Amino acid sequence: MIVVLRSATLDFNFKENCLFCGERVGVDSKCPKSRRRDFSCVETLELLPGVVATARKRNDKWGNEVLVRVGLSCDLVAEEARYHRDCYATFLRKRLSDSAEFQNVGRQKKIKN
Ligand SMILES: [Zn+2]
Repeated sequence: MIVVLRSATLDFNFKENCLFCGERVGVDSKCPKSRRRDFSCVETLELLPGVVATARKRNDKWGNEVLVRVGLSCDLVAEEARYHRDCYATFLRKRLSDSAEFQNVGRQKKIKN
């Protein structure tokens, strides 16, 4: 597990890599503009508590990787950390679908009874 987490942070650069997926963000000038993914910079530390809380609730590999990356810096705004907007949305959305699955399980139990 520790080895996996180390590989997740290997060569990670807040200015060049997505905080969530770890892939390079918007710095490849050879890439046609239409194929570039939208990204944002971390402009406020207020973003972090929500990200950390979501990562802890996910309690999975992706959540752990994000927690490790966030932990690498004490000031992501100063680091000018970047992230893909769709990665951020997916990261937050997954937790919602998980809770929806929970509700479905509850309904199925009711039907069986
Ligand atoms: Zn990404």
